This record gives sequence, C-alpha cells and structure tokens, in this order.
Amino acid sequence: MKGFKDILPETIEKWHFLEKTAVKIFTHLGYKEIRTPILEKTSVFERGVGDSTDIVEKEMYTFLDKSGESVTLRPEGTAGIARAFIENKLETSVFNKLYYIGPMFRYERPQKGRFRQFHQIGAECFGIKNPAIDAEIIYINTLLFEKLNIKTNLEINNIGCPNCRPQYSKALISYFEHYKESLCIDCQKRLYKNPLRILDCKNEKCKIIARSAPKLKDYVCKDCKEHYTGVVECLKALNIEFIENELLVRGLDYYTSFVFEFVNNNLTLSAGGRYDNLIQDLGGNNICGVGFALGEERIIDILDIKPQNSIDIYIANLGVTLYALNILQKLSDLQFKVYCEYENKSLKSMLKKADRLEAKVCIIIGENELKSSSCIVRDMKNSTQKTIELNQLENTLKGVLYAT
Ligand code: ATP
Ligand code: MG
Repeated sequence: MKGFKDILPETIEKWHFLEKTAVKIFTHLGYKEIRTPILEKTSVFERGVGDSTDIVEKEMYTFLDKSGESVTLRPEGTAGIARAFIENKLETSVFNKLYYIGPMFRYERPQKGRFRQFHQIGAECFGIKNPAIDAEIIYINTLLFEKLNIKTNLEINNIGCPNCRPQYSKALISYFEHYKESLCIDCQKRLYKNPLRILDCKNEKCKIIARSAPKLKDYVCKDCKEHYTGVVECLKALNIEFIENELLVRGLDYYTSFVFEFVNNNLTLSAGGRYDNLIQDLGGNNICGVGFALGEERIIDILDIKPQNSIDIYIANLGVTLYALNILQKLSDLQFKVYCEYENKSLKSMLKKADRLEAKVCIIIGENELKSSSCIVRDMKNSTQKTIELNQLENTLKGVLYAT
C-alpha cells in the first residue's frame, strides 16, 4: 500500500539501536514511558492539533466506527498524551516527564522521508514553566544525535502565543495580500486561516516573498519574550549551538513561544516546542507543556551502524530432533545465541546456512552422536572440527567463541 512500509529483518537492528539509545537517555534523565491508544476520538486532534492545520485539514485517517463515532488514527503523539494526562489526572503523579515510541499516520504524498505510516520517538514534560525544561528537551536531542553519530543543525524561533500572535497574523495578512496572486494555491488558502504557515512553505516563490514578511519578534508579548530569552540563556550554558530562524513555524497550532527543529541535509529529523495552552484547550487545568518528536524513518535512513552477527551457534540437526532440542535448551540456558535446524536437509546445505547466518560455531549431531552423548563442534572460521562429549560442550564453545 502506498506510503506503508514493511520493516524487514535486514534493517531491524538499526531500529533497535535507535530505540535502545533513546530509551537509555530518557531513563537516565527520569523520563517514564507512556503508551496511549493508536486510535483516538477525532475531536482530540481537532481541538489539540488545531483544525486549520494541514494535519487536521487533509492528512488524517478519520472514519466512523460501527457506533457512528468519528475516530482517527493518531497523526502525532502529543494531543493523545495530553488527553491521557487529563483523563488519568497525571498532574497528581510524580511522573511528569514522559516519553513515547510508536507509529503515527498521515495521509501525505509519499516521498523521501515522508510516509503514511511512520514512527516517532518523542517526549513531553508537563507543568514546568521554567525555560530550563525547554533546554533539557533540546539537550536530550543533542545527546541522542551525538550517540547516533548524526550531524544536525538546531534552528530555534519564538512563535508567540494567543496574546500576541493575532496582531502578528494581522500584519502578515496585510503583507501577503499584496502578493496574493504570486503565492502558491495552498498559501492562498492559508492566507486568512493560518498565515503563519506561509512562512514555512516549501514553494520557491512563497519562500522569496516570506523572506521580507513582518517578523514575529516585533510583535511578541513580554511573557513570550522572557521565556524565549530564558531558553537561549540555558542553551548557551549547555554549550549547545543553535541558529535563530525567524521563518521557522511548526505545522501544529498548539505551540507557544519556543519552537525548534533539528535539521540534517534539508530534512527535519526532530522538532518540537512549548505548548502552554494545550491541556486547557483539551478541557484540563491550566498546565503548561513542552515536548518534541523525531521521525524514526528519517534517522534510520542515515544511520550508519555495523550489523552485529545475531547468532553464535548453529545446530545442524541430522534427524535427531529431540537431542537437538535438549542441546538448544542447554545452550540457551548458558546464554549463548543459538539457532537450531529442524528440517531434513543435507549437511552441506546446513553448513551453508550457518555461514549465511554468520554463526561462529556449528554443532553437528546425528545418530552416532546421540548414541554416544557427544557432538561435533565445527569452528566456522577455520573449518576445523572435533568430536567432544556433551559435558565438555560449554568449555569447548567458550574456547572457540571467546578465542581472540
Ligand atoms: P514536515 O514539515 O516535514 O511535514 P511536520 O511539521 O509535519 O514536518 P511534526 O509533526 O513536528 O512534523 O513531526 C516531527 C517529525 O516527525 C518530523 O520532523 C519528521 O522527522 C517526522 N515526520 C513527520 N511527518 C512524517 C511523515 N509523513 N513521514 C515520515 N516522518 C515524518
Ligand atoms: Mg507535515
């Protein structure tokens, strides 16, 4: 299906590496995992993400369930987590730093780094006003990219809040109205509904026009300004490099004040910001938030890690399946990584398979070995082999596997 991809064993190690690295960082910094449903009531996203955003207007997989209720496959993580935060009264819990990993769905035109089912790793922190928490979110990203050995540029901006953005939107509308005919069709539609999005349009003509548009920094209120300046100060204290990009806006309406993107080769790998009104917009108390989400597919695409061999030992079972099972059990108890063959095959084809699986050792067993409680241990690297008693197996294997 267009935009939907199978993740195959060839690349799964990259996924594991990315997710393990992220989980380790989150855990070390006191973040707890949250898992919310993939399906939510459509209103969660309409009210959360905002109904004039691209996501809600045209990218959601929305349908009526059998009771006639409108439901949506989550296009992003934050709105659902905010809903869970309210419903489960998590403001009374000590766990206000949360992370998540999972699939998201957007009906987008598939292209490089853009799919209809994709996966995000993200985090949300609730109830912390101090700009230091925005900086902590950035720090987590820099740490992760460092461990993944991926170079990125951090771009940041202040996009204001419902106090100051309306005046700015007005200024943008009157500026862009002069160029209305030259804007792309999407931006002509956005002009009155969501003029900020024009700043972010990828169309070359729109980009040129946007460059001279009024700047939000001339409109932001005192609170937004103070918060943003606070984050900048923290980033400097952490020695994190950044670029201030006044054209950076995000595709989700809930952001307030500080927003950011980590960019590699013109592709945004990770993005986020502060959302001080989201919990309230979804019917909760006045609780602020800040978070980010990164696109796993975009990282996997550029992640450069050596695949590790996944098994140590291949059991070539020549018709002695119960004996083979016993040896499998013994080796797995001893924590060896082991693959057992059960199908009737020639020894030659089994050795070939052991090679393809990059096994270091092949244990060959047949009727003779069964009778004498022994096995043949073959060192795959130098193709030497010897018969040993089963009770010598552990030591023999250690000798072969851990020899330098
Ligand atoms: P873009 O401007 O690239 O459409 P966005 O503003 O829609 O991004 P977010 O909703 O903030 O992005 O999502 C965070 C990250 O998730 C993105 O930076 C990207 O890495 C990833 N992402 C978003 N949409 C897709 C998609 N359709 N396919 C793959 N990854 C995606
Ligand atoms: Mg998008």
